[in-house]
Amino acid sequence: MTGRTPARFTAADYRARMERAVRAAADAGLAGLLVAPGPDLVWLTGYAPPAVTERLTLLVLTPDRDPVLVVPALEAPDAAEAVGAPALTLRDWTDGKDPYAATAALLDTGKRFGVSDNAWALHLLRLQRAVPDSSYASLTEALPMLRAVKDAAELELMAAAGAAADATYEEIRKVPFAGRRESEVGADLADLLRRFGHSQVDFTIVASGPNGANPHHEVGDRVIEHGDMIVLDFGGLKDGYGSDTSRTVHVGEPTDEERRVHDLVREAQEAGFRAVRPGVACQEIDRAARAVIADAGYGEYFIHRTGHGIGVTTHEPPYMIEGEEQPLVPGMCFSVEPGVYLPGRFGVRIEDIVTVTEDGGRRLNDTTREMVMVD
Ligand code: ZN
Ligand code: ZN
Ligand code: ZN
Repeated sequence: MTGRTPARFTAADYRARMERAVRAAADAGLAGLLVAPGPDLVWLTGYAPPAVTERLTLLVLTPDRDPVLVVPALEAPDAAEAVGAPALTLRDWTDGKDPYAATAALLDTGKRFGVSDNAWALHLLRLQRAVPDSSYASLTEALPMLRAVKDAAELELMAAAGAAADATYEEIRKVPFAGRRESEVGADLADLLRRFGHSQVDFTIVASGPNGANPHHEVGDRVIEHGDMIVLDFGGLKDGYGSDTSRTVHVGEPTDEERRVHDLVREAQEAGFRAVRPGVACQEIDRAARAVIADAGYGEYFIHRTGHGIGVTTHEPPYMIEGEEQPLVPGMCFSVEPGVYLPGRFGVRIEDIVTVTEDGGRRLNDTTREMVMVD
């Protein structure tokens, strides 16, 4: 985890987020939230410890007292500099003391708490022993929409991350593909993302020819050949907010079938995007994109959900998947990324991040979705 949330957020922003989190927890029947270092802690406080160690760092949010950050004494000066620190009480502990007992003193017994997904089992098990009859729920399962709706400043950062990913695509189109390994093009993508301001690169997928038919393929040693379709899918964090875009390019002139499948995925992506508006269930985005592909007879080759949320991480709720009835709310950001994967042959995926507006959707990626021919 790198990339502190930039200083454009104020302590008041973080205070408001923590208050909102406490209210949401109470609505979900939780007596409080316990937040370990990771994306939730960054989002709630602006604090990311320089390294995550076995020493307990834990944000304790309960309705009856101000937020408390339990932090190792040697890291307290760093925590005190976090933008959200004025909205917190820091409770530092020194080696040899029991931070679990100190944390337990902040919590009622016999209650249920939400715990950030990335909390270490080591810490949670010790805490469970220190707080009699306590039980715990995954924060993401209990409050999946906590970070989903972005405010204006967050949307600006999301748009900037999207623009940086788009700039990366415009540059990668110019590099030679044929005769180079996927891993070399992947390294180019990572360099470009950093050059355009990303502090963290989460993935650089270069899936050429038959590798494109495997949506999980990242990069390999395969040497790209003339005639290959190539799925490019890349993203990471810029100023603490995520990018994630896919385009499928072709080395030289495509065949009619390659063109047809690419057009189909482009239509499906467009249909998914057009379905975005407030109040529509997430599953409707999946259905809209999937119907286009199914109607053309390729339904069995679209083998993943249509999209996922994005924010301070590159994969998070809400998910655009059949069965997800969560209605869309202005400010939500997520991918619309249908694909067709023909085993042993090639794949096509087209992906934009989309944000929900008052009357529809707005793409945060806007490079051409037409098939681009590369060298
Ligand atoms: Zn081809
Ligand atoms: Zn992607
Ligand atoms: Zn994605």
